[in-house]
Amino acid sequence: MSKEMLPGVECTAKECVYNVDGQKCTASKILVKGQNSMSSSETECETFKKCCK
Ligand code: SF4
Repeated sequence: MSKEMLPGVECTAKECVYNVDGQKCTASKILVKGQNSMSSSETECETFKKCCK
């Protein structure tokens, strides 16, 4: 799998397989859901995938 960074996407979800060092996303694209969100904490990355570690 390519570890190229998704430019501009910083993410702290370190348990995600696409995350590097709890800082960056390496997915080729992401989907963030939050149709009824009223704050940033109510949005969720649908692309999250539990890391195998
Ligand atoms: S796929 Fe989503 S949760 Fe995973 S590193 Fe990228 S932005 Fe974070």
